[in-house]
Amino acid sequence: MSINLKSLIPVFDAEWIGSNTDVFIDHISIDSRSLQNGSKTLFIALSGSNNDAHLYIEELIEKGVQNFAVQYIPESVKGKANFLVVKNTLNALQQFASYYRDLFDFPIIGLTGSNGKTIVKEWLNFLLSPDYNIIRSPKSYNSQVGVPLSVIAINEKHNLGIFEAGISTVNEMEKLEKIIKPNIGVLTSIGSAHDEGFENLEQKIKEKLLLFKNTNVIIYQKNELVDKCLADFSAENPIPDRTFFSWSFKDNSADVFILKKETKNELTIIQYQYEDKASDLEIPFNDSASVENAISCLLVLLYFKYDSKTIQNRVQMLYPVQMRLEVKNGINNCSIIDDSYSSDFQSLKIALDFLESQQKKNATKTVILSDIFQSGFSNEELYSKVSQLVSANKINRVIGIGPTISSFKDKFSNCIAFQDTASFIEAFESLNFSNETILIKGARSFQFEEIVSLLEEKTHETVLEINLDSISHNLNYYKSKLADDVKIMVMVKAFGYGNGGLEIAKLLEHHKVDYLGVAFADEGISLKNGGIKLPIMVLNPESTSFPSIIQYKLEPEIYSLKGLNAFLKIAKEKNLKDFPIHIKMDTGMHRLGFEENTIDELIQTLKNNSSVRVQSILSHLATSDDPKHFGFVEKQIGLFEKLSSKLMSELNINPIRHILNTSGISNFPNAQYNMVRLGIGLYGVSNDSSEQKYLENVGTLKSIISQIRTIPSGDSVGYGRRFMAEKETKIATIPIGYADGISRLWGNEIGFVTIKNQKANIVGSVCMDMLMVDVSNINCKEGDSVIIFGESPTVIEMAEALKTIPYEIMTSISQRVKRVFFR
Ligand SMILES: *Cc1c(COP(=O)(O)O)cnc(C)c1O
Repeated sequence: MSINLKSLIPVFDAEWIGSNTDVFIDHISIDSRSLQNGSKTLFIALSGSNNDAHLYIEELIEKGVQNFAVQYIPESVKGKANFLVVKNTLNALQQFASYYRDLFDFPIIGLTGSNGKTIVKEWLNFLLSPDYNIIRSPKSYNSQVGVPLSVIAINEKHNLGIFEAGISTVNEMEKLEKIIKPNIGVLTSIGSAHDEGFENLEQKIKEKLLLFKNTNVIIYQKNELVDKCLADFSAENPIPDRTFFSWSFKDNSADVFILKKETKNELTIIQYQYEDKASDLEIPFNDSASVENAISCLLVLLYFKYDSKTIQNRVQMLYPVQMRLEVKNGINNCSIIDDSYSSDFQSLKIALDFLESQQKKNATKTVILSDIFQSGFSNEELYSKVSQLVSANKINRVIGIGPTISSFKDKFSNCIAFQDTASFIEAFESLNFSNETILIKGARSFQFEEIVSLLEEKTHETVLEINLDSISHNLNYYKSKLADDVKIMVMVKAFGYGNGGLEIAKLLEHHKVDYLGVAFADEGISLKNGGIKLPIMVLNPESTSFPSIIQYKLEPEIYSLKGLNAFLKIAKEKNLKDFPIHIKMDTGMHRLGFEENTIDELIQTLKNNSSVRVQSILSHLATSDDPKHFGFVEKQIGLFEKLSSKLMSELNINPIRHILNTSGISNFPNAQYNMVRLGIGLYGVSNDSSEQKYLENVGTLKSIISQIRTIPSGDSVGYGRRFMAEKETKIATIPIGYADGISRLWGNEIGFVTIKNQKANIVGSVCMDMLMVDVSNINCKEGDSVIIFGESPTVIEMAEALKTIPYEIMTSISQRVKRVFFR
């Protein structure tokens, strides 16, 4: 793309404030971290209620970005770049995408539905790629932001588009339709996901159908409700020759009627009738969701007039879709980003941005890349572009695998090439991987999973997976509850409530939270050593740690005269000026803090003292989640108001004041003062069940099945023979135990794990490193994945059963359990 920026003035209905010369852009970005931002980038500064990209403009100008679409021009950057000033930057992004879409005229498949969009999209891409140059949404880019970003990656060489659209409430689809403008519509499975945003299923279906306003065909699974919605929809949005192309297991009036379906081990064989002819199709999956998704693909192929033989040949090659980028610990202090199942140009850009966000200090950046297929470009053009992208991202070494990338190896300044994966594996030892962040990205046929397994650190199979996107989501949820100028401190004590300290702190730093809070000085020191620049408050500083607090520029919470005097003594010795400290008041928690009767002495001590500065005054609520005690909380807030006001007026200072934790934010919106301290809510747990549904689960504790055996009736399982089989029972052993943080109280059929979406009760006592579950009714095998907690059971359920609180469950997970972060 090369677009004259000024030609966008009418598209955006924008005001132009910038140079008078013509400016051309070739890249659109909304991500301030991307190293792909350059002088020809148009940066669109999105501004949500909780994240304002306008704050990054100054930084971006320093890095060479010249062109911005903004809602306002921040004072500090006036006159320093070109600005398109618009009313709403999200609208501008969408208007641009829609304008850009109109420059192209080839068939576009639009997918929507509750489940299966991404899988059907990936599969259609695979099935149709022998015959088309396809542009598709990368990963699950299907939102109000993701859809425009997907569409603006179209180029002149594409001749088929496949885009997915996802919505969570009414009035969203119309906007997405304008951007995708599909001519072929596919409705995938309609489940109950995101039901909160809709009054009922009918409204949800009708809203989704709006994607098909201008399509010539709508492909769907026939059912009464959908048929009714489609009839209403067609009446409201008539198109002369629109056809409906339906399939069904039950209704033989569907265009494609499934006559038979049988499962054989891992396979499903269906027989379908289409145009009076019955054909067989072998689908390489045995779960019903995959079968339905494969049938959606079948209909698209029939619509494209493929014969049953070609369809059979291609469908039997379908594969499980990996939808996310995963970060794994590698050998020799490497980190690995595993994207070993796709190799298109657009997803390479996304993966490189992800690499940057995961980059460890001083580590080398390496990309292992296979040949790239169906980019639309000639190879010459394609590898020039790849090389530019790689150098913009400051990649230190490129390892190309495949005949094509090998022959273009000279386009890169630092590329080692191999003809195939096997030759790479042969040379593996000599490549000396160490202290590198390695992106592994390849087309399926290259089987890069073998490379991943070579590079991956071998540990036991239990991991705690942390979803970084969910953390961002939860942060934004709580930010949206805050008044405009209220700051936010996030508590990352105890390794981010067990979820991982540094990685989460880095993410929070990117989101520009105002403060981090830790319990002890050493937690703060390891964050500072990891490169965190945000101010960090230490809740519980011991006097012995004061020197390192000062050295690492941490900020102590001071809660007693003794502590204050000790700190002042060191501060004077070191000649400090205005060193920030935080004064904690005890307003009823009776844990730490100045009590009312010590305030006068506190004031006397602080008066005329220039070595420290009261950066904030805080207190902590004893019970912000239980309505029974709300009267008490009001008293605490009242006392805080009184004590902090006294301190402020007598010392003539104006510090930040804060008292609310997570449940405080939910229940006492009037006591936000200047800052709040968010803890458990960030990690996906609310103490309030009505709020829980707005949060996303962050941590999933996973393991695998080590061994399966069947025991006869009357036999027992585990230490102390606490489980006695009353009938023949299939037992699976899982390598996680109380030493990993799973309470023994969770054993003996109180607790359960999830295997293949089914509950498996824990039988017998939990051992130190293992536990056993009953899998008599579950079709599973050794090596299968097991969920210990996450979506089910949730830590909340576990906490209830164990008569404790989610905090304890989360922070109990031992540090020997690897943390794996992903988006
Ligand atoms: C841990 C902690 C918080 C956060 O509490 P949540 O209930 O997890 O939100 C806030 N303030 C102080 C002083 C804390 O110790």
